[in-house]
This record gives sequence, C-alpha cells and structure tokens, in this order.
Amino acid sequence: MARKGTLFIVSAPSGAGKSSLIKALLDANPSSDMKVSVSHTTRAIRPGEVDGTHYHYIPVADFKAQIENNEFFEWAEVFGNYYGTSRVMIENTLARGIDIFLDIDWQGARQIKEQITDARGIFILPPSREELERRLNSRGQDSEEIIASRMAEAEAEMSHYNEYDYLIINDDFSTALEDLHAIVRAERLGSAKQAAKNSVIMKDLLVK
Ligand code: 5GP
Repeated sequence: MARKGTLFIVSAPSGAGKSSLIKALLDANPSSDMKVSVSHTTRAIRPGEVDGTHYHYIPVADFKAQIENNEFFEWAEVFGNYYGTSRVMIENTLARGIDIFLDIDWQGARQIKEQITDARGIFILPPSREELERRLNSRGQDSEEIIASRMAEAEAEMSHYNEYDYLIINDDFSTALEDLHAIVRAERLGSAKQAAKNSVIMKDLLVK
C-alpha cells in the first residue's frame, strides 16, 4: 500500500516571505514527491508572473461556473478577487503519494481542514511590526495610505495564526527554511504514513 501524500497549508500575511520559503523548500527537494498547487484566480496577471506557473488566470464568469460545478476543493474572495484550488488536482496528487503545498489564505485553510482532517497548517510570521512595514514598503516609494492598507490586510490575516498547527517566525531566512524542512520531515515520519510507505518491512516484522 503506497503512502498517501500529506497536504500542507501555508498561510501568512504578505511580507512574511511565504512564497520564497516554499520555493526554497521545493528547490531543495527536486524529487517528485512534493509539489506546489497552482491556484485559479480572477485577479490580473502581474509583471513577471506566468499563466499556469503562478496561477491559472481566468475570467470571473468562468470562476463562478467552476464553483457551480463543484470543481474547487476550496475557494475564497481575497481582497476583491476570487482564488480557488482545483479538486481533481488535489485528489489525484495525494492519491499518488505526493505531498502538496497550498499557498492559500485562512478562509481556504478552514475549508481544507474540514475536508481533510490530517492536513497540516503552517503559519509564517514576520519578526516584528517594524520589519513587516519595511518589507511591505520594499521599494520605499509607496504612500502612507497604501502602506497603512497593506498593514491592515496583514493584521487581518495574522489574527488567524492560532488556527494552524505550526508557527514559523521568519527572521533569519535559512533558520525559517530549516523549520519548514523539520515540519515536513516530522509529518512524513508519522507512524501511519511510515507504515504505509514501508509496508514490506512492516509485513516482514509483524505478520507471521
Ligand atoms: P496574491 O494575489 O498576492 O498572489 O495572493 C493574495 C492572497 O490570496 C494570498 O494570501 C494567497 O495565499 C491567497 N491565495 C492564493 N491562492 C489561493 C487559493 O487558491 N485559495 C485561497 N483561499 N487563497 C488563495
């Protein structure tokens, strides 16, 4: 019996370094036993983003039709745009024993936890308010009003940290990355997952 993959939900306010941490984790594990889910969104594509790599960019009417057809495992409206995770992709990937990372917000995390009880939630926080403000104004050119609205959005997301299983404080990037590695490794060593992965050894040791 092959091991089923684990679903990791990763949430954070913007400025916490979530995308960079997930990317570094995946880059350090080039084997095909973990992947990041690519969500669907109705928001406009940003410079530097690639359709199909960062998101699948679709019109609002298509998104609503997919909601009606129950094609999303979870979906949410975040800051005026729709975002959703494909049901087929999640189910097929987990069945193949591949761990999936979902870079989604707290609303999506709640919906996932209701459906997959052994999904693991990881919340990433910046080390201080001052550092968060600095990261949200990285170009140093934004108006006070824009920074204040980004801070308000970040505060709203951060208020949900205690709905997650793990908390990483991203002060030093390499330490935060080690923490993320440790969480994934510990989850993979859970006895049910280990026994499923090592069924031949288990049979040899335990069944007469
Ligand atoms: P951005 O537009 O900056 O890429 O993402 C905005 C927010 O939407 C982030 O907090 C991100 O985690 C969240 N998000 C991205 N994809 C999904 C998704 O499929 N479902 C949910 N619920 N949130 C998502």
